[in-house]
Amino acid sequence: MNTISYWEQQGFGKADWVVIGAGLVGLQSARRIKESFPDARVVVLDEHALGNAASLRNAGFACFGSAGEMLDEIARTSELEAVGLYEKRYLGIQKLLGRYGAARIGFQATGGTEVFSASDSEEAVRVFDHLNGLNAMLRSVHGKESFELCDTISTGMNVLKDGVLSPLEGGLQSHLLYKAVREDALQAGVEIYEGMRVLDWEENSDFVSLHLASGLKISCFRLLICTNGFSKRLIPELAVSPARGQVFVTKSLGELPFEGIFHADKGYIYFRELGGDRVLIGGGRNLDFEGEETMEMVVTDQFRLYLKSYLETVVLPGRVIEFDYEWSGVMGMNENRNPIIGWHSDRVCLAVRMGGMGVALSSWVADEVLCVVEKDLGI
Ligand SMILES: Cc1cc2nc3c(=O)[nH]c(=O)nc-3n(C[C@H](O)[C@H](O)[C@H](O)COP(=O)(O)OP(=O)(O)OC[C@H]3O[C@@H](n4cnc5c(N)ncnc54)[C@H](O)[C@@H]3O)c2cc1C
Repeated sequence: MNTISYWEQQGFGKADWVVIGAGLVGLQSARRIKESFPDARVVVLDEHALGNAASLRNAGFACFGSAGEMLDEIARTSELEAVGLYEKRYLGIQKLLGRYGAARIGFQATGGTEVFSASDSEEAVRVFDHLNGLNAMLRSVHGKESFELCDTISTGMNVLKDGVLSPLEGGLQSHLLYKAVREDALQAGVEIYEGMRVLDWEENSDFVSLHLASGLKISCFRLLICTNGFSKRLIPELAVSPARGQVFVTKSLGELPFEGIFHADKGYIYFRELGGDRVLIGGGRNLDFEGEETMEMVVTDQFRLYLKSYLETVVLPGRVIEFDYEWSGVMGMNENRNPIIGWHSDRVCLAVRMGGMGVALSSWVADEVLCVVEKDLGI
């Protein structure tokens, strides 16, 4: 016997648009659609309260790609793809700042610094040799130098004296950003429902019928999938693999000799000061790519020890580090980290694969979703 109530089916059974995923991408895309089609009922569904995957589990870097990471990206894809991705991230951050303002999302324009430990000295030489070329390649994006050599002595870190500063980068407070994005969507008239896991759907020429784990069925004219690292559960053939990221925050360490955001090891390790007295550190996925290709959100001893040792030997040499917070989140990855935005079928659209910088990309992606939709409708 069906245990779904008459009221549940009446209240939630029909929508013009359903967006799966209440992360930064799903919420901003839903808001853009609602703004352009104010009479449409736009519903966002998420299996977890406050999302659960990445949007509230990231490091809060407003970054576009360190020099080492750009060289890595070019080697994996091409100059064209790498510059395109950098540009989307840069524009995405400008759109976030334009929409919400720096204060509301806790953005601080500290710049981002790439540092090199003694074991990275070969990589440092490679990066320094390519700085002029990278700057020339990226100048078309913002008309400025993306990278400058800088002196890292005052940080007290056990790193080479020369680092690379990305002056346009900064840090934001992820909880403030998520709150602003969610409030903005609600205010625009988007409906957000959590505890709603979508299992699959059927599509015919008139509508899409969604099946939820609760047994509820929802029909809509169009479906937008923003499930990023979880997308393979819905569409197994998609070129988006889950990639777990583990993050740790130290106990209070007193006053710190540095502020801002830092990249190391081609961007695989990232750390920042939080609240003036703690350090957040995360990443290190290149230690075990295969093991971290998982949707299981746990923290492992291997990564806890690796990142703790990096802090004790490189970032805060000689200090004994204890963590107060530890968590993991799931990213959507591929060799090519450019997002997939477009129609999967007549009525189902995708906005997935945000790589490691979906905070930066999210606002740009939401605008692009709207372009794709309007083009399809001949607007
Ligand atoms: C550890 C870590 C650190 C990061 N650091 C940064 C950073 O510093 N800067 C940066 O720019 N980016 C960073 N990122 C990446 C960034 O957080 C993500 O790219 C971005 O949040 C992705 O947003 P999204 O909306 O696409 O996906 P998500 O936030 O992952 O949201 C997807 C949502 O879909 C829901 N969902 C999935 N399947 C279903 C289903 N079947 N039914 C219903 N709901 C479903 C999930 O519950 C989830 O809430 C980091 C990511 C991680 C994991």
